[in-house]
Amino acid sequence: MQALQQLEAKLNTLGIPVRRDVPLALHTSFHIGGPITLMVEPTDENQLVQSLRAVKSSGVFSLVLGRGSNVLFPDEGIEGVAVRTTAVREITKDDNLVSASCGATLAEIAREAQKSALTGLEFAHGIPGTLGGALYMNAGAYGGEMSQIVRTVRLYDAKRNEVIMLTGEQMEFSYRHSCLQAHPEWTVLGATMALTPDDGEAIEARMQDYMQRRREKQPLEYPSAGSTFKRPEGAFAGQLIEQSGLKGCRIGGAMVSPKHAGFIINAGGATALDVRRLIEHVRMVVLRDHGIELDPEVQILTAHLAR
Ligand SMILES: Cc1cc2nc3c(=O)[nH]c(=O)nc-3n(C[C@H](O)[C@H](O)[C@H](O)COP(=O)(O)OP(=O)(O)OC[C@H]3O[C@@H](n4cnc5c(N)ncnc54)[C@H](O)[C@@H]3O)c2cc1C
Repeated sequence: MQALQQLEAKLNTLGIPVRRDVPLALHTSFHIGGPITLMVEPTDENQLVQSLRAVKSSGVFSLVLGRGSNVLFPDEGIEGVAVRTTAVREITKDDNLVSASCGATLAEIAREAQKSALTGLEFAHGIPGTLGGALYMNAGAYGGEMSQIVRTVRLYDAKRNEVIMLTGEQMEFSYRHSCLQAHPEWTVLGATMALTPDDGEAIEARMQDYMQRRREKQPLEYPSAGSTFKRPEGAFAGQLIEQSGLKGCRIGGAMVSPKHAGFIINAGGATALDVRRLIEHVRMVVLRDHGIELDPEVQILTAHLAR
């Protein structure tokens, strides 16, 4: 606790916004998660690097948080610090290159691209995350994914205490995977995406079409973290779960969405334990019925791991 207090004092001295005992439920799309001791909210890339340096030298448990749309945090909360990037959101354009800071939302970046009549980001318009979270996950939809457009990524490397640059290839993107998942010491500061000129109205029409499809198929009216499971080789998680008769299956406040079986939703008052138990139940039934192991897409942090 002393290290956290010292870190808080250091951040205050640096003029970086920091709050104490912040309920993570307020900052995740699942609306689940107990309090975290400190939440740091830098307002630009310079403050973000300063925060990460201070956190690293304090030695406390830390995590980087974007919009919290792909995470499940423990009900007990976390003794540690979350560096939340959502205020670090600058977007610039140079010809057909769009650059953004890690906390800019995909929706904002896709909108900027559309306004500049640049195609390539329509798929990302309805994904409710930040650029940093999308690069971590290689987020994608409707045949598009971040790997197709990322030219360069700027990262802060906490081990070497320096800013480094990776090319799209060096990010080792594959389905819902990037090299960031094996490098917790790397935090995305920003990235440059290469897009292609196109007709602005056609881009807008594609964005609206994808959004409409989401509204029709996905349970957007309930808190969730999107697709709970990754797509297994040669199958669709939602279909397997539906074929196992699990639509509407409920543990506590967590429920397999009756609208789309690939989503576990918070149907009211769900705890992280409810969701984790339901995930395990679904995995067990799908393995029994189809011989396929489902791998969660949502990033699950347990209190045990946070210590
Ligand atoms: C309704 C709904 C629909 C969704 N649809 C899709 C979809 O179509 N396709 C899809 O791929 N996903 C989808 N998602 C999941 C989610 O929106 C994406 O994975 C998104 O990219 C996560 O971004 P985030 O900012 O919310 O990340 P968070 O949930 O905050 O974090 C996710 C992971 O990224 C890490 N991270 C965040 N920022 C950084 C950074 N700057 N540097 C390093 N690591 C970082 C975090 O530490 C964490 O491990 C959906 C979610 C919801 C709720």
